[in-house]
Amino acid sequence: MSVLDLIRKKRDGGQHSREEIEFLVRGYTRGTIPDYQMAAWLMAVVLRGMSRAETTMLTEAMLHSGAVLDLSRLPAPKVDKHSTGGVGDKTSLVVAPVVAAAGLYVPMISGRGLGHTGGTLDKLEAIPGFDVRLSLQRFRSVLARAGCALIGQTAQIAPADRKLYALRDATATVESPALICASIMSKKLAEDLDALVLDVKVGSGAFLKQPAEAAALAELLVETATAMGTRAVALLTDMDQPLGHAVGNALEVAEALEVLRGGGPDDLATLSVELAAHMLHLGGRADTVARARQLAHELLSSGRALERFREVVRLQDGDVRAIDDPARLPRARHRCTLPSPAQGYVAAMDTEAIGRACVLLGGGRERKEDSVDPAVGLTIHKKIGAPVQAGEPLCTLHYNARTRRDAALERLRAAWRIAPEPPPLRPLILAVIGAAGG
Ligand code: URA
Repeated sequence: MSVLDLIRKKRDGGQHSREEIEFLVRGYTRGTIPDYQMAAWLMAVVLRGMSRAETTMLTEAMLHSGAVLDLSRLPAPKVDKHSTGGVGDKTSLVVAPVVAAAGLYVPMISGRGLGHTGGTLDKLEAIPGFDVRLSLQRFRSVLARAGCALIGQTAQIAPADRKLYALRDATATVESPALICASIMSKKLAEDLDALVLDVKVGSGAFLKQPAEAAALAELLVETATAMGTRAVALLTDMDQPLGHAVGNALEVAEALEVLRGGGPDDLATLSVELAAHMLHLGGRADTVARARQLAHELLSSGRALERFREVVRLQDGDVRAIDDPARLPRARHRCTLPSPAQGYVAAMDTEAIGRACVLLGGGRERKEDSVDPAVGLTIHKKIGAPVQAGEPLCTLHYNARTRRDAALERLRAAWRIAPEPPPLRPLILAVIGAAGG
């Protein structure tokens, strides 16, 4: 089989066989297919798409590029949640300990920041010492003791996605439903889950910006999970503005801790409870989503979820003093604000530009080998619907290098649209796909 022929075939809109997809995934994972050829094939997929059958075959090939865990000895159901990627989305840091505190297991294998979006692993690494590269043996032991463990793809788990994810990030080939589905599912199905909750983002900060595209991705994800024997629900959620106020790794950890203490911004707390409730419901901890929601609230207000998070941080070698005192998290040396150019109400935000500004500050990667500065980011002061005076700060930038600050400011100039009238209210959760109600 020739890689060139396969690139040409997809470029011209052809459909791959199982053997062809396996050849590509195996060759790239083992290093016999170079980055430049795989990047060309990925771009052909972005432009030409993949059928449902090709998507399932790609998911399977990526899943079986590594080990699939056997967690059948754990005494309670295993559930997880995954987001398709957003800006300021730190819900994983909240839902994993909430659900673990309810007695379910959350074996969470996450990704790093991708494009303009943040990644759970980068956020966790903002906690000094936190190790996301545990061996599978240690992963199992943390999971058994704390009820949740959070790691990245290892050389053993979905290695194909680990390589492809970094390549897609650096070649503008993220925005493909088939590639997103195979990427998410190859990681998540390796976790031997009983149930999976998917947070499919839609809006200016999502990879898929149109509701119809995002709904189609949600259905694709739920169908693929179900076809592979995992119960799944997808929530279609608003990403027309960042979630919460913090964007940037250490800032986001601090904000997630506020929610774990029973406070935090409303949208972040509400979405965290909603996602946790669906996990608790699918995992059999409550017979309706409404009861599961109540349970999630109790676990947050009683401090039991925070206690769980502290335990995971300790078991994964993180500095627990940063959990009790977030001032110990990395802090940028400088701050400046972006003033509003006009008086009125925030009518819209270019959330992708806000995510890009965070990358430009050093909070994400422009090239796959770049390292991330955990301290930098943005605090958003004015979100959609907020009244604003001319000159009032729209956001604060936390930065370490002036050139980076200037590039980020440039990117942010047109990110807020100010109008004379307040915009209509918008729902945070647009739809639930594949769910039982309640
Ligand atoms: N999240 C993933 O894990 N993979 C993608 O491709 C996009 C979001």
